Amino acid sequence: MLKFDNVSLKYGSFLALDKVCLHADKGELVVLLGANGAGKSSLFLTASGIHKAAGGSITWGAQELVGSKPSTIVEAGVVQCPEGRKLFAHMSVQKNLELGAYVHRGDTGPSKRILEEVYALFPILREKKDDAAGSLSGGQQQMVAIGRAMMGRPKVLLLDEPSLGLAPLVIKQMFEVIQRINQSGTTVLLAEQNAFAALKIAHRAYVMESGRIVREGKPEQLLADDSIRKAYIGA
Ligand code: ATP
Repeated sequence: MLKFDNVSLKYGSFLALDKVCLHADKGELVVLLGANGAGKSSLFLTASGIHKAAGGSITWGAQELVGSKPSTIVEAGVVQCPEGRKLFAHMSVQKNLELGAYVHRGDTGPSKRILEEVYALFPILREKKDDAAGSLSGGQQQMVAIGRAMMGRPKVLLLDEPSLGLAPLVIKQMFEVIQRINQSGTTVLLAEQNAFAALKIAHRAYVMESGRIVREGKPEQLLADDSIRKAYIGA
């Protein structure tokens, strides 16, 4: 289980995360809803070891992630796909993907196998493997970002707003792939503003406001709640 227990984070005197408690069981697809600035990215960056929690603990199984180096966290199988993709635009698609495999420490055997799996997940990336990542469409760039995370063989995938800026049809395909990744055994924690599409594939969801978890429930419970629908679905 990935477990956040009373996790707090400060930027200077600003409390960005206020005693956040949430968990994702092994094999679950858990969605984290929240408006801009709610603290979703801060939570992921804390889990990835980029930011240091001011309090609380984050555990994956028996392993404490707070205080661990980002590379140790990736080696433990907790891998983030960041908001905004963060690709190397001038490097080829394949080189970007290979960067996600650094965790295998030069052992190219598993990397080649995983690269084949990523190309099977996103066939268009094989066709574009020698193109500069920056020349791809937004949806294809998001595929590269997810593929790069998959190259680390994640046990837990932290996906930060993968649908940001994408066309509706592309979003639909993206969510289908995320569901497939989860069904093949990867635990997924998905931060999204596209609440309706995310809830359709989620096992459970949390709602975050101003650095706090304010709701937790099954997708059907949240979809049936008028205040959630008004705030996050616009209906
Ligand atoms: P978004 O989708 O817009 O990224 P979010 O839910 O991911 O929203 P965060 O990016 O985690 O939210 O931001 C939470 C709060 O922390 C916001 O008020 C933001 O302005 C602030 N914040 C984020 N990063 C920093 C930082 N490096 N220094 C200071 N404040 C920050």
